[in-house]
Amino acid sequence: MSDITAPAYRVIPIIPALKPGAMEGKGPFVANEKINEAIGFPGKLVDDWHDKAIAKMGELLSKYRSFKVYMDACVHCGACTDKCHYFIGTQDPKNMPVARQDLVRSVYRRYFTLPGKLFPKLVGARDLTREVLDEWYNYFNQCSECRRCSVFCPYGIDTAEVTMAAREILDSIGYGQKYSNEIIGKVHKIGNNLGLPGPALLDTLEGLEEDVKEDTGIDVKFPIDVKGAEVLLITPSADFFAEPHIDSLIGYAKVFHATGTSWTLSTMASEAGNFGMFIGNYEQLRKIALRIREAALELGVKRIVVGECGHAWRVAYSFWNTLSGVGDGASEVDRFAQMLQKQLDHRYKQPTHICEFTWDAIERGALTFDKSKNDKHIITFHDSCNVARGSRMGDYAGGQFEIPRNIIKTVANNFVEMSPETTRERTFCCGGGGGLLTDDLLEIRVKGALPRMEALNQVKEEHGVNFMATICAICKAQFTKVLPIYGFDRRVVGGVHQLVSNAIILGDKK
Ligand code: SF4
Ligand code: SF4
Repeated sequence: MSDITAPAYRVIPIIPALKPGAMEGKGPFVANEKINEAIGFPGKLVDDWHDKAIAKMGELLSKYRSFKVYMDACVHCGACTDKCHYFIGTQDPKNMPVARQDLVRSVYRRYFTLPGKLFPKLVGARDLTREVLDEWYNYFNQCSECRRCSVFCPYGIDTAEVTMAAREILDSIGYGQKYSNEIIGKVHKIGNNLGLPGPALLDTLEGLEEDVKEDTGIDVKFPIDVKGAEVLLITPSADFFAEPHIDSLIGYAKVFHATGTSWTLSTMASEAGNFGMFIGNYEQLRKIALRIREAALELGVKRIVVGECGHAWRVAYSFWNTLSGVGDGASEVDRFAQMLQKQLDHRYKQPTHICEFTWDAIERGALTFDKSKNDKHIITFHDSCNVARGSRMGDYAGGQFEIPRNIIKTVANNFVEMSPETTRERTFCCGGGGGLLTDDLLEIRVKGALPRMEALNQVKEEHGVNFMATICAICKAQFTKVLPIYGFDRRVVGGVHQLVSNAIILGDKK
């Protein structure tokens, strides 16, 4: 596959020795003209990039109060320095969260503060040179926007937002990243990140119906574009064909079947992911979210349920209301958002996570399971960053941690937690989030996975754990790739609804 090897496991906790420049020049491929122009960005680095970048920075500083506060508030206390998985795995000091922020902060000081304008050297201010710009490109594309560092910062400085601002500036001058921008183009053109056209989707779903019938003897449906269905399921497109993702899609369908829920997928909105957030671009974030509103209005659904996808759930939970009218708080001047708010059934949470849906059915006694079907697994749970630190589930604090675990414990007998320093709000990123899930970034992905692999290895050694459940399509894809590099079987990772699917007893009970 590649000549990249996994770093050696450490005895936790260790602050890594520094290797300056270790990841210099190891950023992702730059987007080409066709990719950039397709989504409205300049095709290549514009001639007057310096002035445009500073102007864009000024615009973001006035638009986003948080960005300005983050530029001013850091006291360089160092609490965040060893909290980033990419610093831990690469030992490159520029992958320390504070150093990453300082790449932008130093330029902010030079152009937007009086001391920086008068005595730049004294206050660590730097001109925006081509060298600095390349550093931005390199290191802001080595941050997965996981927000772990912000948990440890006494001021709550969120490096993810700084990364988003830097990426937005880079895109505005034609210096965007190929992987994310190409995916955004596919969503607009075809409807999903994978560029899976409608007919291929239909074929896949028909094939799944046949497979499940063969397996269970039951007619579990995978409906698409059904007008008047109660539930619209918005799920990552990887669920339609990637392994192990597809096993969770089968699990959702079985839950809908067993609860007698009428549901549908949509060809127009066949993607839960929203890479607009990764590149920090509000217009793209909104445009991608609006496909879901359009599909919901066209199909006349009453509920919107979101499948296993970490960043998609953050966007849905935190931003869909004002972006699209799913949930409360739609703009009064947005006619379509108002229409959708009237259409949706507000006895239910809008949107609902599939784990909330399943857990509610379990609590109502609407589902039955044979837990022994999962006895071959000794299971642990990997909290995905955007679910853990950017959203909630249920109606109580920490529901996003408890509900998936409760489901696992309901459908399986063997559950073990990983080290508390690596779970819940302190969870480590899989290493592939934030628009980094591309093979041209394989080295940073492998190295960034180190803390999670260490914690997994620990529970494997101590308890024989052989299955790590997660509720994120990116985590599943990333782990499938890096697990073998760390000596694990790639099938160690799977979805929570994969476990549900294994154990659910399909019958007439509602
Ligand atoms: S990858 Fe996560 S921990 Fe590292 S700097 Fe970015 S947000 Fe912070
Ligand atoms: S923890 Fe916060 S204040 Fe301290 S160095 Fe990191 S970003 Fe700055």
